[in-house]
Amino acid sequence: MIDDSDCGTPATGIGRAEACSLQCPACRFWSLWPVAAAELPQCAGCGRPLPWVVPGTAAGFDAAIDTPALVLVEFWAPWSGSSLALAPQLHRLAARHAGRLKLIKIEIDREPGLGILHRVTGVPLLMIMTDGEEVDRRHGSPSEGQLTRWIDRWVTHRGRTAATAE
Ligand SMILES: [Zn+2]
Repeated sequence: MIDDSDCGTPATGIGRAEACSLQCPACRFWSLWPVAAAELPQCAGCGRPLPWVVPGTAAGFDAAIDTPALVLVEFWAPWSGSSLALAPQLHRLAARHAGRLKLIKIEIDREPGLGILHRVTGVPLLMIMTDGEEVDRRHGSPSEGQLTRWIDRWVTHRGRTAATAE
C-alpha cells in the first residue's frame, strides 16, 4: 500500500512519499503517480496531462530529476513566509505547464544534505534543471509576473531543444 499523505498541499508541499495523488484540473479526478517516473503524468479519468508537484528527498532525487520534463526545484521552509507565499504561485505554474514541467519541492530542514550539495544559502531558492544539470537559479521572492516569464522562457527553450534533438 502506498501512503501519499506526505505529498503535501499547495500551501506546504512537504513529504517523503514515493507516489503522490495528483488532481486533474479539468475533471477533478485523482490519479496516483510515482514521484520518479519516466512518463509524464496523465489523468486516469480524462487523459489530460496533469500538473506534477512532488516532494524531493536525498534518496530519491537522482531518480526524480530523470524526466523528460523541465525540472523546477524549490528549496523551501515552513518558517519562511516568502516560501509559503510562493507555494500557490508555483502550483499555478505547474498547472499552466502540465505535461512539460515537474516541480520538486525540497524542505531544507528535512534534507540539509541536498541543500549543501546545491549550495543553498537561503530560502526560497528556485533552481531549473534540464537533463540532470542545473541551468539557472533564482533566490528570494520574484513577483508572479517575473516568475511566470522566467519559467515560460525555460519551458519554451526546453521545447525547442527537445524538438531539435529529435
Ligand atoms: Zn482529468
